[in-house]
Amino acid sequence: MDSKLAVGIDLGGTNIKSAMVTANGEIALHRSRPTLSERGPNPVLDDMVEMVDELVKAAGVPRDNVVGLGLGSPGPLSHRDGVIYKAANLPGWKDVRVRRYLLEHTGLPSVLDNDANAAAFGEFWVGAGKGKRDIAVLTLGTGIGAGAVLGGEVLRGHFENASEIGHLIVHVDGKPCSCGQLGCLEAYASPGNLAHEMTEMIRGGQASSLAEVLDKQGTLETRDIAEACRDGDELATEMWDRACKFIAVGCINIQHAYNVETLVLGGGMANAGALLLDNVRRFHREMAWRLVDDAPEIVISKLGHDAGVIGAAGLAWAARDASIIA
Ligand SMILES: [Zn+2]
Repeated sequence: MDSKLAVGIDLGGTNIKSAMVTANGEIALHRSRPTLSERGPNPVLDDMVEMVDELVKAAGVPRDNVVGLGLGSPGPLSHRDGVIYKAANLPGWKDVRVRRYLLEHTGLPSVLDNDANAAAFGEFWVGAGKGKRDIAVLTLGTGIGAGAVLGGEVLRGHFENASEIGHLIVHVDGKPCSCGQLGCLEAYASPGNLAHEMTEMIRGGQASSLAEVLDKQGTLETRDIAEACRDGDELATEMWDRACKFIAVGCINIQHAYNVETLVLGGGMANAGALLLDNVRRFHREMAWRLVDDAPEIVISKLGHDAGVIGAAGLAWAARDASIIA
């Protein structure tokens, strides 16, 4: 095992994922445990500290060989100050000084960033955007997360909320979004919305092979809908295409705002592979402007569910190399 390692942690509403990551972006060891977020912030922070101890021990290296710790978390948060202001799916988190806590309890220089930025940095560092300078990542999980790395740096913005592509308004006076706005991209393009709309339509009497699945499971997963598309289900295909069309709108907006070379699609919906990619590329081609050809290459994530944890560790490596870690 490489003698120098960095810890990456991906804090989610359901699981805390952690890993020891080499300077080449490879996962040397990993650990996962349920977040049990109903316990509030302190037990979750203690669990993270315990996981770091476990990883250091299992790696069999002196703690001095661990260069730092990167944490990707839901936000809004401040990378600059190391504070989580509030976290979606983590009840009771308010103005938690996470970076200081982790530094004090693990002894490791720590970096905090939002989970979508961490995933974007992971893809930039060793994933589907490796070797590029300007990339954006759309994470199609339940909602839509997004991050951009421009000129090799994560774009954060003055208020540190840059790249909230899921909350670009694509429909004036449109559907309500959980963020409080109307007509957000996320309210139309997210896998969560796709499953919700499919469920409503089937319950409203529209014919689909998924009626049986819905009866049996009580809910629909993105993979059920993808499978129904492959089996030729008309309603599933229509709804899938519509979601892909909105995702393509997001891609076009990213193209105009950031002019990236590569646009990576990740998250659970990306497991559909060509069914997602071919559709998004097709709609992108049909709808994007004709003034110049500055279309990004749209690709599927290479790191998959590990993008967040690898990217978080990558941020720790980057901070150490830039000597800006605090
Ligand atoms: Zn929104």
